This record gives sequence, structure tokens and C-alpha cells, in this order.
Amino acid sequence: MIDEKLEDIYDDVLRRNPGEPEFHQAVREVFESLGVVVSKHPEFTREGVIQRLCEPERQIIFRVPWHDDEGRVHINRGFRVEFNSALGPFKGGLRFHPSVYLGTVKFLAFEQTFKNALTNMPIGGAKGGSDFDPKGRSDREVMRFCQSLMTELYRHIGEYTDVPAGDIGVGGREIGYLFGHYKRITNRYESGVLTGKGTDWGGALVRKEATGYGAAYFLEEMLRVNGTSLDDRTCIVSGSGNVAIYAIEKITQMGGRVVACSDSDGVIFDEKGIDLDLLKQVKEVERARLTAYAEARPDATYQEGGSIWDIPCQVAVPCATQNEISGRDARMLVSNGCIAVAEGANMPASPEAVRVFSQAGVLFAPGKAANAGGVATSALEMQQNASRDRWTFEHTELRLAKIMKGIHDACFETAETYGSPGDYVKGANITAFQRVAGAMIALGLV
Ligand code: GLU
Repeated sequence: MIDEKLEDIYDDVLRRNPGEPEFHQAVREVFESLGVVVSKHPEFTREGVIQRLCEPERQIIFRVPWHDDEGRVHINRGFRVEFNSALGPFKGGLRFHPSVYLGTVKFLAFEQTFKNALTNMPIGGAKGGSDFDPKGRSDREVMRFCQSLMTELYRHIGEYTDVPAGDIGVGGREIGYLFGHYKRITNRYESGVLTGKGTDWGGALVRKEATGYGAAYFLEEMLRVNGTSLDDRTCIVSGSGNVAIYAIEKITQMGGRVVACSDSDGVIFDEKGIDLDLLKQVKEVERARLTAYAEARPDATYQEGGSIWDIPCQVAVPCATQNEISGRDARMLVSNGCIAVAEGANMPASPEAVRVFSQAGVLFAPGKAANAGGVATSALEMQQNASRDRWTFEHTELRLAKIMKGIHDACFETAETYGSPGDYVKGANITAFQRVAGAMIALGLV
């Protein structure tokens, strides 16, 4: 339920952003947590902070033309939504996926603003990307596309302005092409303009692993304060990209047994536990589909289509994409005995799924808290770039673990303070909102 003091503002958001249901969903979810805060702090509504928070500071949409290997011309659309820079330069990834439109980027940038605030690092919120589909494209095609995108994007970004990184469809290869072109156009080796760089040329160790590792750290802490652990737990991690692979790695190190993962075509079930070396070989080296995993591992079964959430588990870690857990999926998870869900992806649980989990008493870690380890490590990369330093893997992972514990504790304590113990959604939204809103008031009407 949205508090009546926020209803008019929400109606305005709907009116000003027609046809963008994911953005409406992300705003609504935050508003549902804020009733108690606006009652306590009338200055937030008086100063228009909430209205301002729902309007991006800047939105950029541009044409991205490129040639494929046969010489055919393609036109894609590029986006950058610079949502909020009260706490630091705009920061957030780029997503390359055919489903990307302004509403996707807006919802991700809105979420990112709160997520980044939770890290307690000096970073504002942004997101970008394109409806470009990298699937089946050669390295050269991806390079030409990245160069064309950067030919426009370079004028909007910078170490002190806006710092993009990866997201779905954008990993080390793409960041390399993007950085190379930025360097060429600007004639500046400005390492801090992008994060997720290769570790030989300014990238932070642990950045690749950070989102998945961070989600596992958050999950472990959430289970611990609730008197249990990952030990011997049957876990399911959806997806098979960067976030999923390293969530599986850390959960396995922590004693959990991950029995399933997925891609957009199907589901792998591997009762003995996912073979991580094979998964990395298939996804990171061969850039192949999960059918290749099943072919190489006779014990595993591959099911085309279907829902990964039908497989019984105690812990679910959705690491694929938004709204991947429907209300039906959530009911299935609950009836199969699931006790905890941690969102590795951005907004993977639909609003109905979140309600089902909460009514069933399932521990639920929202993405903006549980998956903040990626962007937090990006901020550590910026720190290393600014000081022209290079940290060890161990030191960086220790910093990540501390940050995740800090996020967990802040969410946990805020939920208690505001009368909703154990409600990590409220804890995350209120903590993040107070940090961003406090800075916005201090900076005046801008
Ligand atoms: N795209 C990632 C996220 O959702 C990482 C962003 C970044 O490192 O800037 O948080």
C-alpha cells in the first residue's frame, strides 16, 4: 500500500512516464516503504525531495549505426539515464539486450540510485545501454557497435561526471572496446571513466566476481542472524552469466549445494552440484549455450523451457533478469520448502512474488541490497584508479565482505527502528532514501 501523502506523487509518475511498467513498479516498491518516513519527516515532501527523486536529472537517447560483417547497415538506439548525482558522480552499468527501451533503463537507474547509496560509497545513480542484441555477433561486430555507441556517449561521461560499467550483455570484452574508443577520441588515459576494466589495464581484481560473491555474503549474513546457515542447503541460482557463476562459486565455498542454473532457453539440473569449471568453460571461454554443459556432463539434465523455480530448493538466488519469479513461481518455491531468497539480479521477483514470500515468512533480500557488491567494487576500482594503485585480490575481497556486512546491518537495523523487524525491503529502501534525500536537501534546490 502507498501512503496517501505519496499517492499524488505516484499518480504524477504514472502520468509523466506512460508505457513504462518496470519503472512504475520500481517506484511503487520504494513508495510502499516510505509512508513512515514522510510522516516523521515532513521536510522531505515540503522540499519536493520525493518528486525530484522520481525525475531523472538527465536522459539521453541517441542513434547507434553500425555495419555487420556482411556490410549490412544496422541502427540501434542508445540510452543513458543519469538519475541522481547527490551522493557522487552518476554510476551504473550499460545493458545490451533486444528488450532494452527507455523504461528498462529508467527503472534500473532509479534502483541504482538507492543501491549505490546503500554501499555508502560516494556514487550517484545512472544506467544505460542499447537494444543491440550481442547474441551470435562476432567480436568485430561487437567492437564496431561499441565504437559507434561511444562516439556519442563519450561527451556525456567522465571520471567526475558519469562512470558506466557492465550489466547484461556487457562484460570485459565490451568494456575494453568502449574504453579503447573513449581513449582515442579524448586523447586521455582516464581510467576512472569506466569500471569493470581488464585487470591488466586499470580494472580491479574481484570486480568480475563481486556481484555474485556479494550476494552470497549478504545471504550468509541474513541466514546467520536468523539462526541458520548455508551449510548443506540445496540452492538454486538462475541465470548463467557473470552474476550467477560467481554466486554459485561463493555459495559452494560457503557449504551450499547449487543444483540448478539456467539460460533464456532452458534449465540445467545437476543433482551432485553444478560443475563450476565446466560452467565457466562453456560460458566464459566458449560463449556457448547451456546445452553444451549438458552434452559434456551426462549426469546433468537439460530441460528446454519450463521454470527453474519448479525444482525443490531451500535457498533461491535469482540472477537472470527482472520479473523472472512470478507469483506462481513464488508459491511453488514456498510449497517446496524454500526458506530464503536473495536477489542477485535487479528486481527479479515480481511484486506478487514478494508478497507471497513475505506472507510465508521467507527471508527476502532485495536486489538493491543483495547485489550491491558489484557496484561497490566498481567504486573500489575508481578509488584505485584515482590513486594510481592496484590492490591484491585478498584485500579487495575483504573490503567487499565488509561493505556487504555494512549493508546488511544497516537494512536490518533500519527495519527494526521503523517497526518492521526482518523486513529487508523496508530496511533497504528507508536507509537508501534517507541518505539520498539528506544530501539533496543539503545541496539545495538543484
Ligand atoms: N550493473 C551493475 C549493477 O546492477 C553494476 C554497475 C556498476 O558497477 O557500475 O549494479
